[in-house]
Amino acid sequence: MVTLTNTDSQAKTYIDNVYNKLQTLNAHEPEFLQAVKEIIYSLTPVFEQHPEYVDAAILERIVEPERILKFRVSWVDDNGKVQVNRGYRIQFNSAIGPYKGGLRFHPSVNESIIKFLGFEQIFKNSLTGQPIGGGKGGSDFDPKGKSNNEIMRFCQAFMTELYRHIGQDTDVPAGDIGVGGREVGYLYGQYKRIRGGYEPGVLTGKGLSFGGSLARTEATGYGCVYFVKEMLKEIGESFANQTVVVSGSGNVAIYATQKAQQLGAKVVAVSDSSGYIHDPNGINIDTLKDIKEVRKARISEYVNVHPEATYTEGCAGIWTIPCDIALPCATQNEIDEAAAKTLVANGVKAVGEGANMPSTLEAIDVYYANKVLFGPAKAANAGGVAVSALEMAQDSQRQFWTFEEVDAKLHGIMKNIYKECSEAAKQYGHEGNLLVGANIAGFKKVADAMLAQGVI
Ligand code: GLU
Repeated sequence: MVTLTNTDSQAKTYIDNVYNKLQTLNAHEPEFLQAVKEIIYSLTPVFEQHPEYVDAAILERIVEPERILKFRVSWVDDNGKVQVNRGYRIQFNSAIGPYKGGLRFHPSVNESIIKFLGFEQIFKNSLTGQPIGGGKGGSDFDPKGKSNNEIMRFCQAFMTELYRHIGQDTDVPAGDIGVGGREVGYLYGQYKRIRGGYEPGVLTGKGLSFGGSLARTEATGYGCVYFVKEMLKEIGESFANQTVVVSGSGNVAIYATQKAQQLGAKVVAVSDSSGYIHDPNGINIDTLKDIKEVRKARISEYVNVHPEATYTEGCAGIWTIPCDIALPCATQNEIDEAAAKTLVANGVKAVGEGANMPSTLEAIDVYYANKVLFGPAKAANAGGVAVSALEMAQDSQRQFWTFEEVDAKLHGIMKNIYKECSEAAKQYGHEGNLLVGANIAGFKKVADAMLAQGVI
């Protein structure tokens, strides 16, 4: 594999042993194993140079969550029928700050998904330079087709268990797929009802009237574009006049589209879980926002307003649309080897991951084999959680910054992440490989903190 080190060093054997044991212990968790594999093999040069990490069993400890909470969520639907879902919160690593990471409500949620997301979050959060550890949570609850009251009752039931495990200095959830401002509001309301008192820093992504931060909604999408902008600079290019394909139509996709357009690109496609829109004239952002944010409807409605665009059922075909830049902002493993080859055949120059782990390991190999610039998720989509940390800071200060202030800080953070990734890659002999750089830079900060704190 291009992304992994091929040497037969002692460090490689050590990593093999840790991975093989993990594979035996977690045989039924493919997404978790995929996320671990992608990270730990790229750390080979780090273990070669730092035997102290091996002596302190940092790797063995970092792949093991500090704790996993799994709980029943019972609630009553609009027909008076009792429904039962499964809730999760993983508190993966607290070496550099309170556990931090979103909640995902989606029928595909299981322990493997929550573990992969929580594991990625450790390194992503470390890269932001903010004092936040790694956590994640969610439920197999499907928000699709549920009424507003059902969503509220589910959120209240979920928080009725979760409240006892979280706090502004211990664990701070936020949104992810299926959890946006509305859900965070209901979750916060229930937390406040149970705990009493004003503790807005317990959740991020809140409404602006009760402790939310300006630019949090835009942050992941904007941050992804800021990161790709830095990648393009390396080859003397910019977003101007580039054709971009964005998958997804949640807040990551919407604001990646908006920022790419502001920088002069033409975004020709977006999607949802049912299908995708191809608009050769460029996606109309107002229509997209109206469908998704205001009416919470399906993306297929876009063609009613813009008949020149086409709608295609199913999502995979979106990667057959020729583009210069691909921004996968939908979900995990949405670009496989075949899709990556198609992107390459159509001349893609850069891929920036707005979603978590949207490319399979095989797809990543295709990017590197074909010299496609690649911005890995834990670096490229770190803008969301970075602004969550800024929201926590504002909540602690009881002060709120302007949109421009938050956006400027976000821009600075994304530039810095790019710099750290590219410097770490160079320092450890993999110049230009941002995946290796992100993994090493993210890991080292956490590993050093774990080392300094002793065996705990
Ligand atoms: N769910 C987002 C992520 O994957 C944001 C998490 C947060 O703001 O805590 O990073």
